[in-house]
Amino acid sequence: MPIRAVRGFKDVLPDEIELWHRVESIARGVFNAFGLKEIRIPLLEKTEVFARSIGELTDIVEKEMYTFIDRSGDSLTLRPEATAGLVRAVNEHKLFAQSPVLKLFTTGPMFRHERPQKGRLRQFHQINVEVMGTKAPFSDTEVIWMAWDILEKLGLKDLRLEINSLGCPACMPMYRDNLKEYLEGVFQHLCPDCQRRSKINPLRVFDCKNEACRKIMAKAPLNREYLCTECADHMEKVLAFLKTLDIPFVINPYLVRGLDYYVMTTFEIVSPDLGAQSTVAAGGRYDGLLKALGGPDLPGVGMAIGVDRLLLLLEKDKKGPSIDLFIAALGPKAGKEVIPWIKHWRRQGLAVQMSYEEKGLKAQMKQAGRVGACYVLIVGEDELDKKQVVVRDMMTRDQHEVPVDDVISAVERLVSA
Ligand code: ATP
Ligand code: MG
Repeated sequence: MPIRAVRGFKDVLPDEIELWHRVESIARGVFNAFGLKEIRIPLLEKTEVFARSIGELTDIVEKEMYTFIDRSGDSLTLRPEATAGLVRAVNEHKLFAQSPVLKLFTTGPMFRHERPQKGRLRQFHQINVEVMGTKAPFSDTEVIWMAWDILEKLGLKDLRLEINSLGCPACMPMYRDNLKEYLEGVFQHLCPDCQRRSKINPLRVFDCKNEACRKIMAKAPLNREYLCTECADHMEKVLAFLKTLDIPFVINPYLVRGLDYYVMTTFEIVSPDLGAQSTVAAGGRYDGLLKALGGPDLPGVGMAIGVDRLLLLLEKDKKGPSIDLFIAALGPKAGKEVIPWIKHWRRQGLAVQMSYEEKGLKAQMKQAGRVGACYVLIVGEDELDKKQVVVRDMMTRDQHEVPVDDVISAVERLVSA
C-alpha cells in the first residue's frame, strides 16, 4: 500500500495553486488599502495559550486540539485558530508600545481534529484580521467590511452577513442566568454535551450542531432584551456604518461563536452554495482576551476567512501553467549555445524552459505545448551555422527566422508585446 496523506490533511496541487494565489493577492490588496500590517506567528504554541483563551468547554478545546507532550515534557498544541497566538505575540513583543491601535493580518494553516467532510478538514487555512486597541464601533464595521470586500472582489454571489451582539460582562450574566433556567426545564431533551454545557456555559448550547438541541434553542430566550445601553448603542452604530457602506446584513439573535472570548459584536458571512458547512468568514469582538493572556486590558475585534471553503465557491481556473518561451535545442552544440541566452532572459524575469534531455523536434514541440509555452525558439545545428534561429508563435502557429545576433532583443520584444 502506498503511503497516503493523513486523513483530513490535503495537498494543494500545482493546478490549484493559481486560485490560492488569486485569493491571497486580493486579500493583500484589501489589507493594504485598510492599512493593515502582516504578522507571522508559529503554528505551535504552549497548550495554555489556547486553553486559557478559547475556553475549556468549547468544542475546540474539549475535543478538537492536536495536543502532545514534546521531548522536553512540555504540552504543546498545533494552533486551532490564530487569534490566541497572535495576542500572545502582541503581548510578548509589547507591540502596543509602538502604536495605540494595531491592525494586523496573518494567513496560514490551522489544525482541528474534526470529522473530515466537504468544507471541513483537519488542516485548513485561514486569512485572519485583528484590530486591537480600540472599542470604536467603526472598527467592528471595518473588520466586517474587509471580509465582505475580499469575498466580493473574488466574485462571490448571494453572500449573507449575519450579525448579533453577545453583550458584555455587565449584561451577559443576567441573560446567562435566564438561559440557564430555561435549559433546566428542557434538560432531559438535550444531548449529553449540551447537558454539561447548560450548567457551566449555557450560551454554547446555541452552537450545538445536533438537530434536537437546535429545535430546543429556537424557543430559548434571546439576549436582545438583556443588552445594556452600552452594548445596544454599540450594535446600533456598527449597523449604521454597515448601512452607510451598503453592506446588507440580517440580525441573527441565535448567533454565538465557537470560542468563549467573544463579546458584543459577532458575525458570520454565509454562502448558500456551501451546504452544511456554509460559513465562509466569521469573527467578532474579544475585549477580554489580551488581559486573559497576561497582556494589557485592551479591546480587540477580528475575523477569519476559511480559505478552503472559499475555494469551493470559486471557479477552477481553466488556464494551465504558462511560460513565455520554450527552447527546442537540437543537438549538443545548440544546447550549449542557448544557455547564456536563457540566463539573460531569466534575469529579466521571463519564464523560460528547455528540455533536460536531447530529443527530436517533434518531441520537444509536444513538450512546449504541454508546459503552455507562448513561443518556441527552435535552435538547430544547421541554422546556427547560418547564424539563424526560428521563433514560433504557439497561438497563431506563425514562425519566422531571426538572426542569432538579434535573438535576445527579438524575443524580449515578442514577449512584452
Ligand atoms: P464551524 O461552526 O463551521 O465549525 P467554527 O465556528 O468552528 O466553524 P471559526 O473558529 O470561527 O469556525 O473559524 C472561522 C472559519 O474558518 C469558519 O467560518 C470556516 O470557514 C473555517 N473553518 C473552521 N473550521 C474549519 C475546518 N475544520 N475545515 C475548514 N474550514 C474551517
Ligand atoms: Mg468548528
